[in-house]
Amino acid sequence: LVSPDGSTRPTIFAEMTALAQASGAANLGQGFPDEDGPAWIREAAIAAIREGANQYPPGRGIAELREAVAAHQRRHYGIELDPATEILITAGATEALTAAVLALAGPGDEVVTLEPFYDSHAAAIALAGATHVTVPLAPDPTGGFRVDLDALDAAVGPRTRAILVNSPHNPTGAVLGAEELARIAAAAQRADAIVVTDEVYEHLVFDDAAHIPIASLPGMAERTLTVSSAGKTFSLTGWKVGWVSGPAGLIEAVLAVKQFLTYSGGAPFQPAIARALSEGDADVAGLRDSLAARRDRLVTGLRAAGFSVVVPHGTYFVCADATPFLTPDTPDGAAFARALPGRAGVACVPLSAFCREGSATARALAPWVRFTFVKDAATLDAAIDRLSALR
Ligand code: PMP
Ligand code: GLN
Repeated sequence: LVSPDGSTRPTIFAEMTALAQASGAANLGQGFPDEDGPAWIREAAIAAIREGANQYPPGRGIAELREAVAAHQRRHYGIELDPATEILITAGATEALTAAVLALAGPGDEVVTLEPFYDSHAAAIALAGATHVTVPLAPDPTGGFRVDLDALDAAVGPRTRAILVNSPHNPTGAVLGAEELARIAAAAQRADAIVVTDEVYEHLVFDDAAHIPIASLPGMAERTLTVSSAGKTFSLTGWKVGWVSGPAGLIEAVLAVKQFLTYSGGAPFQPAIARALSEGDADVAGLRDSLAARRDRLVTGLRAAGFSVVVPHGTYFVCADATPFLTPDTPDGAAFARALPGRAGVACVPLSAFCREGSATARALAPWVRFTFVKDAATLDAAIDRLSALR
């Protein structure tokens, strides 16, 4: 293992998907859709292959896609970007995030994330040799998970090189509000830190929640790297087309790393995603509405089965407290999640996998697990039936 803190061990998502496949369980563990994205976008990639988009694209990505990302940021958020210098196409959000952290931080630097955090964020910090500092997100009695703002102020200091934000947030489904984002922005400005923001679920927000890109806050465009990707927005997670945008100097630094990770990739997928970003708003709205209904179905089913659930306002994940189902053999969420495929034919992911081992947040969330609802209704209903029989 590369990192002594264990953050580069095999991912929990692969482990749970393997368990689900071996036992024929309904896989509500790894977050990927069981229905592929729109046929017209897939056809666009097939056409691109026929038309010869089969060799290395430029290291920054094809101009057409960079222009489509710029137009997307302007149309949705009023953010102005120069496609020539302020946008870089990457192998998914994962590469953008890892290259950004490697570009910004090294030994002696601190990188702050929320906790729980998406697993690759911790691994990138470990690969950079930087120190990972976390700020708890805790279930709030009024509903949702909220950032501990005092802990945020205490965590960000003179050694903070970057604050890695993720909203809408995996795994909690929290969509950070204006106040939370303003406090993160103020902390970054106070410490002269860069914000790296993971916005891959930007379009998957429900109810009256609104996604606010932190780069749109006053004074933040010049110190923010915004990361997103096509995987979640268009249900094409295997295409691995992502992007990062921000000030030219920071993008140049990310490119310096990215060129030696993959150089470039996804030649036929890039023009297809350029079209999807320009012409796919109706498809995205359809996915969002259908996900909101599937969220409601899973939340209702989990509650009826005996779980306490925090209703998510974004992403495609629901977090549930599995305390009523814990036994001496399965005393926490991790043991429960590993046993569940065999015990009930359902796979989920423990929240401890998104926490630092032994942290206060890991202890507080030890009985919690995450279920995804980006599955068809029949799979969700089968999972709910099986979970209802647990007690
Ligand atoms: N960030 C978060 C919060 C995610 O949930 C995921 C993947 N599901 C990614 C990044 C990775 O995105 P990509 O597949 O585009 O690399
Ligand atoms: N982001 C997906 C999830 O949270 C998994 C992606 C992966 O397996 N790396 O489930």
